[in-house]
Amino acid sequence: MIHLKDVTKIYKSNGVVALDKVSLDIERGEFVFIVGTSGSGKSTLMKLLMHEEIATSGNIIVDGKDVTNLPQKEVPYLRRTLGVIFQDYRLLEDKTVYENVAFAMQVIEAPRKIMQRSVNTVLDIVGLREKFSSFPAQLSGGEQQRVAIARAIVNDPRIVIADEPTGNLDPETSWDIMDIFQRINAAGTTIVMATHDKTIVDQMQRRVIAIESGRITRDEARGVYSENPPTSIYDAPYYPFQ
Ligand code: ADP
Repeated sequence: MIHLKDVTKIYKSNGVVALDKVSLDIERGEFVFIVGTSGSGKSTLMKLLMHEEIATSGNIIVDGKDVTNLPQKEVPYLRRTLGVIFQDYRLLEDKTVYENVAFAMQVIEAPRKIMQRSVNTVLDIVGLREKFSSFPAQLSGGEQQRVAIARAIVNDPRIVIADEPTGNLDPETSWDIMDIFQRINAAGTTIVMATHDKTIVDQMQRRVIAIESGRITRDEARGVYSENPPTSIYDAPYYPFQ
């Protein structure tokens, strides 16, 4: 689903090597955490996947398509394959919840009837149907992120890329968001999530790819954030999902 081969990213403005010959393969339906300290290269990796930045060298294949040097006019097609979610939600402040989600479908010129049905369905998935007419400023952080998730999945993407989606949220609200991600993943969508929330990573027990100074230092199928996870359930925080 996602293949990176020897991908290097050097920012021209300051010469920083943000990613250094990174190679990785993510298969369809996987749920992958990208972990690492601030400045390790997580966001750069996410930006390369969504084509917000372009690799200095190497190859990137997303959903069978080589997007390494994708022409600008083809970026919207890539964005249809991907749903993207950011730490700061990035909603349109002058649009309602419904309009924010519908906007993502207008961009791809979906027929009106299909659009209405899809928007209502994804608002149900994130539990916000009753807030359809609210504006972002009238919502809590967790609710705003749920709108952002609804917007990301409304076009039924094969891959969801989330960059620190719980970074601004309290632990309980973060678990609500992870619950939604689990359900989206259970429905077959591949999820790649950058985070430095150790508790979430340790509890979810999914694949963990650790990056340090632009290099992959660890890749574990059912990993934990650090190499010293809790060894007893009494050391581990409450795990709300079964
Ligand atoms: P993380 O997401 O893990 O915090 P980033 O990918 O944002 O890491 O950053 C990796 C490195 O690249 C850091 O040294 C950072 O300062 C640098 N960097 C990130 N974005 C830019 C940019 N737009 N221009 C120059 N340097 C950048």
